[in-house]
Amino acid sequence: MSDREIGAAAGSLDPRATLGRVQERTERALARAALVPGMTFPEIVQAVERAVGIRLRIVRETDTRTWGALTGFLTYFPDRREGSIHVRASDPPVYSEFAASHELGHLLDDAHCSGALHERSSVSPHDDPSLTTPEFEAELVAEQVAHGIARLRYAGPPIAEVSW
Ligand SMILES: [Zn+2]
Repeated sequence: MSDREIGAAAGSLDPRATLGRVQERTERALARAALVPGMTFPEIVQAVERAVGIRLRIVRETDTRTWGALTGFLTYFPDRREGSIHVRASDPPVYSEFAASHELGHLLDDAHCSGALHERSSVSPHDDPSLTTPEFEAELVAEQVAHGIARLRYAGPPIAEVSW
């Protein structure tokens, strides 16, 4: 049995333990950037830059014919303290913001492997048997952080509270 198979088998043994770890890492990642409701997306990116101690560029790629199911990816150079997040210029802004937020999630997740190339696919990691358990968990954390950022951006306080 390869490491990969052992990882996959271990992951399938106790999905509740996996979800617990993912939840914990997601909460830690979101707390690390001290994000608050009402922030604009550029402000969120700046907060992540401060939290991680790097400079970030968001690049809207126009030639994405070879991307396939890829919706965004991160290149990170820890030695230069800089990185860039690449998204599709052709995606609706709300979707490419979500894809970029997923990459911010990888940066904020302290368990991620620095220096690695991180990608977000429109194919769920649940349907990708080639991922090892750590890779699978890192994808879930990044996706949950993106959901957390989306909630901050779009699920503000109920209207009744802000209007009265
Ligand atoms: Zn990812």
